[in-house]
Parts: sequence; structure tokens; C-alpha cells
Amino acid sequence: MPFFSENTTDRPIGHPLVDWFIKNRRILPWRTNPSIYNRLVSEFMLQQTQVATVVPYFKRWIEQFPSIEALAGASEEQVLKAWEGLGYYSRVRNLHKTAKKIVAQQTNSINSKHFIFPKTPKEWKQLPGIGDYTAHALASIAQNQCIAAIDGNVIRVLCRIHAIQRPFESKNQAAKYVKNIAHSHIPPDESVNYNEAIMELGALICKPQKPSCNRCPIGSHCRSFQEKLDCSQIPKFKKNTYIKKIIRRIFIRNEQSIILKHTHTNRLHNIFELPLCEDISGKIPNQKINEKILYREIAKINRSIAHERITEIILEPKHLPKDFESLPKDNPELMLLPIYELPNITLSGPHRKWLDKQLFACP
Ligand code: SF4
Repeated sequence: MPFFSENTTDRPIGHPLVDWFIKNRRILPWRTNPSIYNRLVSEFMLQQTQVATVVPYFKRWIEQFPSIEALAGASEEQVLKAWEGLGYYSRVRNLHKTAKKIVAQQTNSINSKHFIFPKTPKEWKQLPGIGDYTAHALASIAQNQCIAAIDGNVIRVLCRIHAIQRPFESKNQAAKYVKNIAHSHIPPDESVNYNEAIMELGALICKPQKPSCNRCPIGSHCRSFQEKLDCSQIPKFKKNTYIKKIIRRIFIRNEQSIILKHTHTNRLHNIFELPLCEDISGKIPNQKINEKILYREIAKINRSIAHERITEIILEPKHLPKDFESLPKDNPELMLLPIYELPNITLSGPHRKWLDKQLFACP
């Protein structure tokens, strides 16, 4: 592999990036009102979720829980319901716990009028659900400290600018590798704009597959562009993909009642989902040989989470078993629920979308 210099001094990208960002940034609600609480909520929502998906959730959330105090005082059911559809529910549980801890500290302190937020990445990382990236993003973007926040967009942009072609084992390893480079580009007193700018460039211009190099404000500083390298291959990650197949069953009687799984594990506590094939076994034949005779496939969904490629198949029985209503008795996690109760419960990930499609023919 050729050796590429990663010297940053001849690639002063900070100022042109910030100038571009000030003129081209997207208007986002957490930018319009960049309080620490708003930034905290947006950082939790943006973990593994696209900006366009987050915006309506964020607006509703801030209406319902306008302050850290309001969030800390809400019940778990309220916060889960407000989060429904965003998935990865451990995020909202951790956000809720974080709000409670910050407010509890306030309650214990004397004569303090404002909530005391952590001040350094190290302090932020003491709170639930706050890892290295989020801690640095909050300290830099929300609190204007001269610190680089490194997410996937930043890794991609920096690896391309400096033509870093070594393969990384993981995103964490890549983040550690570019940390000093990222820090060296921060212009004095521009930490907030610089960190937002480089992430925005990654989201809008320096995209994973087809970067718009001709529109890039730092194209003249970018080695990959200047040397006509194949940017879609930068950064490189060693491939480690797992393939998983999940089969779910949907049992609905006369559009009036449905069998759902009410999980009690930490990860999905208080959240409902369509039962898995193995949740309804015994009385219901589930051997492969019977699948096509007894069930029709009503949905097949492919999705990816980190290095996992998941195919979920949803099967509906062609004829409901006679003892439909007694099925939950064999498994304490199963519940027979009237359809009219569906709006009042929290469903896991994409399950509400699947049910709406099945029950109400929603696209
Ligand atoms: S010139 Fe192209 S590859 Fe380089 S940073 Fe800009 S968009 Fe990315």
C-alpha cells in the first residue's frame, strides 16, 4: 500500500468550510434554538437515524417536553410513546435517565437557578447513553469548547481530504485515527461552526457513494479529488457482515383482536411487537414444510443495522386456529389485545408501520 502523508498544515480546510457552512447550512430546529437541552435531545435522536426522520419527532418532543425538567418528570410510558417509531428504544430510556440525573443534581445543589449540565466530554460520558462522539459533540457544539466531534461523516471527509486508504477494523478505530487531524483543523473561536460544517459537508456534499466534488468548498485542499482517487472506496472498512433471517407471525381476528408480544427484557421493556415464529409454537405447526400451505407471506423487509443484514418475513395464517384466543396462555409474553387499543400502546421499531399496512391498507 502506498504511504500517504497526512500532514495537515498544507490543507487549511477550517476557514473555507466554515464560510461555506454559514451560507449553506440547513435550517434545523435544534440549530434555530441551540439550547443545551435541545442539542442533547437532538444528539440522542440522531444516533443511527437520518435528519429528515428526526425533525418531526424533535418538534413534537420539544412541544411535549420543553425542558429537561419536564422530561425528567415524565413517566416512562409517556417518553416511550413520544419516541415510538424512532426505534432503538435504549436511546430514549438513557435520555430519560440522563435528564433525571441532571435534574436530581440540581435538586441537591443549593441556590442554583439553572440546571447544571456537565462541562467536559469526560463529565458528559458519566451519564447514561452518552459515548465518545455524543460527549464531544455536546461539549463542542452545545458548549463552544475547542474540541473535535467525530462521527461517520467526519471520518469520511477527513480520510478523503488526506487520502487515508488504510483499512479500519471499525468506526471506533477510524475515529481514534483521525482525532488529532480533526482537532488540528479547528479555526480559533470557530469550534461550533467547524464541527457542524464538516458533518454538514459529509451529509450534503461528500456523500458515501457519489461525492459532489465539483461543488465542494474544499476541493482544492482535497488529495483524493486532486489525485482522482476512487472516493467511494475511502474510507475502507474490513467487511464483517452477518446475515440474519427473522420470521414473525401476525394473528388478527375479524379486524378486532390481535396477538402481540409484550416484552419484559431490559431492551424492549414495555414495548409490543409482532410475535416471532418461536413465540407461537406447539399448537401451531411451524415446520418449514407447512409454511407455504398454512401461511401467506404478507411482507418481506430487508434492513441493515451496523454490520448485520436482516430479512424479516411476516406470515399470516390462511385460517386462524380454532383456539386462537387461548394461544397467549402458553406464553406469558403474549397478549390478546383489542385492535382499538393499538393507538395507546408503544410498538417496537417498524411494527406500527407494518400493522397499519395490514389493518388499514396504509402505504
Ligand atoms: S473534494 Fe470531493 S472527496 Fe474531497 S472532501 Fe470534497 S466532496 Fe469529499
